[in-house]
Amino acid sequence: MTEKEVKLIVGALLHDLGKVIHRTGVNINHSESGYQYLKEELGWTDKEVLESVRYHHKGNLKNAKLEEDSFAYITYIADNIASAADRRETTEKEDKGFEKTFPLQPVFNILNQKDGERKETYYEPKMLDQTINYPQAEKKQFSDSFYKEVLDRIKDCLRGLEWKDPRYINSLLSVLGATLFYVPSSTNKGELGDVSLYDHVKITAAVSSCLYQYLEEKGEKNYKKCLLEEETAFWEEKAFLFYSMDISGIQNFIYTIHSKDALKQLRARSFYLQIMMEHMVDTLLERLSLSRANLIYSGGGHCYILMPNTQAVKKKLEEYEKDMNEWFLNQFDISLYVASGYTEVTANTLRKDADQLYTQMFRNVSNKISDKKLHRYSAEDIRKLNEFSKAVSQQECRICKRLTEKIHEEGDGYVCPTCYELKRLAEYIMNDKMCFFGVFQEGDKGVPLPGNMVLVAMDKEEITKYIKEEKICRVYAKNGFYTGQNVETTIYVGDYMAKDYSTFEDYAKAGVEKGHIERLGVLRADVDNLGQAFVAGFAKEYRTLSRTATLSRHLALFFQYYIRQIFAEKQRKVAIVYSGGDDVFLVGEWNEVIEASMDLQEALHKYTNASLTISAGIGIYQPAYPISRMALEVGELEDASKNYSGKNAVTLFSTRDEYTLEDGTQMDTGTYSWKELKEEVIGNGANVGKLSSLKQFFDENQERGMSMMYHMLELLRQKMDQKVDKLNIARLIYMLARLEPVKKGDSKEEEEEYKRSKEAYRSFEENIYEWCTGNASKEDIRQLITAMNWYSYLIRNRSTKSNKKEKEKER
Ligand SMILES: [Zn+2]
Repeated sequence: MTEKEVKLIVGALLHDLGKVIHRTGVNINHSESGYQYLKEELGWTDKEVLESVRYHHKGNLKNAKLEEDSFAYITYIADNIASAADRRETTEKEDKGFEKTFPLQPVFNILNQKDGERKETYYEPKMLDQTINYPQAEKKQFSDSFYKEVLDRIKDCLRGLEWKDPRYINSLLSVLGATLFYVPSSTNKGELGDVSLYDHVKITAAVSSCLYQYLEEKGEKNYKKCLLEEETAFWEEKAFLFYSMDISGIQNFIYTIHSKDALKQLRARSFYLQIMMEHMVDTLLERLSLSRANLIYSGGGHCYILMPNTQAVKKKLEEYEKDMNEWFLNQFDISLYVASGYTEVTANTLRKDADQLYTQMFRNVSNKISDKKLHRYSAEDIRKLNEFSKAVSQQECRICKRLTEKIHEEGDGYVCPTCYELKRLAEYIMNDKMCFFGVFQEGDKGVPLPGNMVLVAMDKEEITKYIKEEKICRVYAKNGFYTGQNVETTIYVGDYMAKDYSTFEDYAKAGVEKGHIERLGVLRADVDNLGQAFVAGFAKEYRTLSRTATLSRHLALFFQYYIRQIFAEKQRKVAIVYSGGDDVFLVGEWNEVIEASMDLQEALHKYTNASLTISAGIGIYQPAYPISRMALEVGELEDASKNYSGKNAVTLFSTRDEYTLEDGTQMDTGTYSWKELKEEVIGNGANVGKLSSLKQFFDENQERGMSMMYHMLELLRQKMDQKVDKLNIARLIYMLARLEPVKKGDSKEEEEEYKRSKEAYRSFEENIYEWCTGNASKEDIRQLITAMNWYSYLIRNRSTKSNKKEKEKER
């Protein structure tokens, strides 16, 4: 990237800096105040930047005496392309005026809403920090002093800026992201106000870079003519490529391991893939002379990038895909594969969807990627693969089971170089201080990355040293730590892990003291219909690139950052193995995993204003059960939830038993909507749930009760399995009667206790009758079976505990 291009991008990123200044209480128009600030406060003299800021509106631009290749023309039209849809609204309607203290509205207000409906909620004015900013009904206003603080933070970053190093753009983007994410781009009362100022300036910068390269390749230097005077025609030119890349095989790559310290290994592999994806995106952007402003979305092995439509870019894309796949083939055989695709689009496509163009753009790239996946390897690739597998003197890696020649011998077998390095990385990422990750030209240590690079974890001191010595290609800072060197890219990693629990065994044992069965809980979940939400979740008139970018970033932030807070708040005894895109893989103490799943569902519900739902599967296992099997089986549980009508469901424990419901549908035993789980299976508030009823009764009557509960469970199962036509009511009555309390004596206390337990028995008996007899539905019985299973897991170790106490007493 040339110095000129860096200036173009910085100019575009700062073109609306005046809005921040204006909102601190300075009453001059934002183009002028931004310009004056950069010139006087910061002493900048670069006309490329200054002109872009001062003349990005048509009125000023027309009258300004600028050279015909001033970047102001690019910034002007890029600003329009980024925000056109919103601006159009104001020209059509009466001007309702501006209100500079206006808070940002969530894009979720208009996501997946029925025609014309929209919710009225707002974000609390704040900068990005650890706490989740949930949409709220209250409309809190911004203050002058908030904007002053924002301005100070941006100023600090701008002071260190160096035009020669494109990496500074990433750090500027990080700062703008942290400060302007909850700041509205527009405070015009006639507009929606749901696109953040950050997303607006970012898209403006992305479009600017594209236009510059596009016009360069055409040899067009007269920006004034083609972007201002003949603007309308330019909107119809296919100046952009909308590009998407997808890595397949991620899930299998992470979970197909055999290792004693599986949890550490899984977390290291999952982190490795996330950072590899970032590195691949950065490598591509670097080859194309673009910045991360052009990255519209990245997560879960998938990304969208806006690019210029030039021959040079197309050629580089082809090379890039080839390079990446060659590297993957060498490094991991066929387990990981990159597929990409692009489609040529006009500026008009990016701002309106009257002819379904925007929707079509997403469909086009996704079709191209699907095609590629069908024709993965060329004849040449296959020949290479065969050669590779014929090679002699290979040994099997004990962790990933791949055959390799280079091998590390360890006490209990051989480990391939990648697994060897990943083992070291696993140790580092457990250490909070090692939050910097440097990418180097290949050396003798470090985890391999595409492009013959390696990744090394470091602490602040080390990384600072390497940056000074200029020995480092790229720096990633995990979860918002800054070196102060202004070259790092902040990445968010949802890597929550309960304190003092670091192995599957630790987690399995975590509930034993409470009486729980010693088991590991495993959860897999993902958002329902997310692809659809991206492509068509907004009404036509709202489908713009800025809005898509805002939606993407909110979701990425939720799954890669806020998710840590959700579990930390309640100190859940769980560990996140993987959380990216909209996918979550969680392990933990089994009952805590169920609780955590509800935390997650409720948080997402609040966070997205009920516009998105999530489905999950939860299995429970012996900690020594192979992780790849767990992943597979829990994946099936998740599928069962996805097949539930309306999704938005969770499947507990097992899909092994299938039952036919009254209306003939096949139902997995443990699949419930979240609402049903909370209200009917567990019980909350006014809803008498099955689990809470069992707890209430049996917690007091365990000695005699438990064997009876197992008998009842057996009876209910027979009915559900349709081995018997009718539930054996007589038998049920008999069993219940055996639970009836008997009076122990005539003292006042004994009398009281009898009365209490009699009452408890009556209400329990009533509930069971209601659920199992008369007009009882199969749903009630199904829920009761789940609750009984659940309860039996909760108390499995309870008797041993009382035994222990007895023994202690004896001593
Ligand atoms: Zn290996």
